[in-house]
Amino acid sequence: MLYSEMHLPTGREVPSDAEVVSNQLMIRAGMIRKLTSGIYSYLPLGYRVIRKVEQIVREEMNKAGAQEVHLPMVQPAELWQESGRWNYYGKELLRFRDRNDRDYCLGPTHEEVITDLVRHDIKTYRQLPKNLYQIQTKFRDEVRPRFGVMRCREFGMKDAYSFDADEAGAEKSYEKMFAAYNNIFRRCGLKFRPVEADSGSIGGSFSHEFMVLAESGEDAIAFCEKCDYAANLEKAEIARPEKTEPGDGDRPALESVETPNVRTIDEVSAFLNVSPQQIVKTLIFNADGRACAVLIRGDHEVNEIKVKNFLGAAELELADDEMIFKATGAPRGFAGPVGVKVRVIADYSILGLADMVTGANRENHHLKNVNLGRDFAVEAFADLRVVQPGDACPRCAGEIKFARGIEVGHVFKLGTKYSKAMKAVYLDRDGREKTMIMGCYGIGIGRTAAACIEQNFDQNGIIWPMPLAPYAVIVTPVNINETEVMKAAREIYDELLAAGVEVILDDRDERAGVKFKDADLIGIPLRIVVGSKNLAQGRVELKIRKTGENRLYATSDICEEVRAIIAAELKTAV
Ligand code: ATP
Ligand code: MG
Repeated sequence: MLYSEMHLPTGREVPSDAEVVSNQLMIRAGMIRKLTSGIYSYLPLGYRVIRKVEQIVREEMNKAGAQEVHLPMVQPAELWQESGRWNYYGKELLRFRDRNDRDYCLGPTHEEVITDLVRHDIKTYRQLPKNLYQIQTKFRDEVRPRFGVMRCREFGMKDAYSFDADEAGAEKSYEKMFAAYNNIFRRCGLKFRPVEADSGSIGGSFSHEFMVLAESGEDAIAFCEKCDYAANLEKAEIARPEKTEPGDGDRPALESVETPNVRTIDEVSAFLNVSPQQIVKTLIFNADGRACAVLIRGDHEVNEIKVKNFLGAAELELADDEMIFKATGAPRGFAGPVGVKVRVIADYSILGLADMVTGANRENHHLKNVNLGRDFAVEAFADLRVVQPGDACPRCAGEIKFARGIEVGHVFKLGTKYSKAMKAVYLDRDGREKTMIMGCYGIGIGRTAAACIEQNFDQNGIIWPMPLAPYAVIVTPVNINETEVMKAAREIYDELLAAGVEVILDDRDERAGVKFKDADLIGIPLRIVVGSKNLAQGRVELKIRKTGENRLYATSDICEEVRAIIAAELKTAV
């Protein structure tokens, strides 16, 4: 492509409303343009990158045996009513009516539509398994669209859905997608980690988020430096500690102390002059209408998802004042395990504690020297807290560290959530009717491109890894008014074009400095500079964007050299 003919509106100004580097650079490099909040146009350069991501995704999905479909974006309300999500989904779902007053929505995801398709077409076990995918526009009316195309309202997603006859098959489908995702993000040239995420009622390790590691990431990840364990903070497990006996000997007698208006851990700690590690927090939860007390050490936080999963509750929230009063006989802030009238479960952090300080279930009172067994009982100990840096790795002897990441993909075993509600059934070998088992697998296309920039930039602009680069090479004649220079540049350009290389010829009548700045900004991996001085010696300069390296090559060798570099970089990414 000739630069002079490209629609490539680059800019030097950092856009004031762009919070993250990728958004700033995508705007400055003329890749995207904001239309309105959370809604973007892709310009030619940006769309080429999108097509690169899509192509890698498509190849790996096809290789994994998934088949591409294209489902409608406009979806009738009836399907969402059938799955139960019409009322549940909330404001992210953009709803509207047609001229006949029928309700519709713009698809934020396609479980309903695909399940409807499959229940119609698939009747017997012989037609299973199936994995269908599409690359298509989604609309989600996000509360806070931000970070450009990373969290926008209209965006491209690859979504795949697997249908299997049994659990073993569903797990195999999941493994296949997991492997395909690893290939996809590796081929995109990204530094990423699959992290375990909460899979709700499914259990097991059947939800992974693929996280691109970046400071600007919205998500926190707990990972082990020694092994490949990584999980998001909701999910990160904490192993049961080895030392759990507080030690023998007589414990001091239980003591009730008056603590007027002293409620929080900090207040109790200061008032009684004890460390938060000595204090036990007692939280009363409302689990499906039933009260439950959860004990945790004062310096830790309860992880509500873990509590919810442990209790097998459909709904879990902190109890209101009335429920707390019923359970403890005291107002909020003084709950404790001694004499509490509801079931008590405790985090592992309570094991090994002696002479604890707890609420007294009496207004303005706390208890000192509280001991497990002697003073209270616990129904079960479990991992119920939020992980912290420095915790032991649940898989090896390593230590947990925190990092930030951008979720670019998600693989999830759905089980029968949709197939049951929407009656996606098949006849098994014995002619019995069974419910299909589903999985769903998403990748944000635009978010992947943006995440790649977050990992690959410098003060001059984007540094595209070869697989996602909109063009591999830019040929820059230093001065287009010198006939020999322009002739040589054009010959190199023509030869590369003929060889199928994606190349730009910067034929603009601009100063070399301006052209170099633009080439760096848009991040083209290889730049061939054709100038009169080198050319007089039959040479041109090759500049590598990533390393800043400059090398001289004979004019006659440059095309072959460039092709070899491109081939090598695409190959290492495969
Ligand atoms: P998030 O927690 O970031 O909101 P999600 O859990 O809603 O993500 P999924 O429903 O699993 O996301 O969607 C699959 C993929 O689609 C995500 O991994 C992400 O790459 C992409 N995606 C989700 N929401 C957006 C958005 N608002 N803008 C751009 N991409 C998105
Ligand atoms: Mg979301």
